Amino acid sequence: MTEQLSPELDHLVAGYRRFRHEGWTPKLERWRELGEGQHPQVMIIACSDSRVDPAQIFDTDPGEMFVVRNVAAMVPPFETAPGHHGVSAALEFAVQVLKVREIIVLGHGMCGGCQAALTQSLQGSVPGEGGFIADWIALLDEAREPVVARYGTTGREAERAMEHAGVRTSLANLRTFPCISQKEAKGSLRLTGAFFAISDGVLHLLDEASGTFHPVD
Ligand SMILES: [Zn+2]
Repeated sequence: MTEQLSPELDHLVAGYRRFRHEGWTPKLERWRELGEGQHPQVMIIACSDSRVDPAQIFDTDPGEMFVVRNVAAMVPPFETAPGHHGVSAALEFAVQVLKVREIIVLGHGMCGGCQAALTQSLQGSVPGEGGFIADWIALLDEAREPVVARYGTTGREAERAMEHAGVRTSLANLRTFPCISQKEAKGSLRLTGAFFAISDGVLHLLDEASGTFHPVD
């Protein structure tokens, strides 16, 4: 390659070389196995935020988790209106083809998407200038109301409540997919809410009966 790489890509390529040397070569048999096909048991829906990498948090190898990441770790409700339903397509593939046994929705601390949902700061923006985000996080409008009524729209308490509410919303929306609610009722699929903040590095799991998140020991 004659063209000079950007410093950003150069940094990544250096990482790739380390991976080839330290991660790839010692595990050739595992990669060969994965070359034949993937059989992950878990699907994770997480935020695109650079600080919340599910593979790092759960210390997993390639082949273990089927991952969707998007702004605020949202699942839209089951909708058949025309449009490009990327999350729904991934869900369909994970549940019907890969037959994952567990779907985890992983929310996180200091989520910009959740904060924008809380403050509605992007409302009225045109697509490309914040409008796509505003439309996407409008998925949280209903969940936002009780949060605002209790905590207002600013401060960590309000933001964390919104982040937790986002996880509950995605779980509720997952259950609007008939294939998911049927499998959950049959016991062949479990849904779990989780929350991780890089500030303390502690994973929390949602107890759906009480609606609260508890730290994992
Ligand atoms: Zn986020």
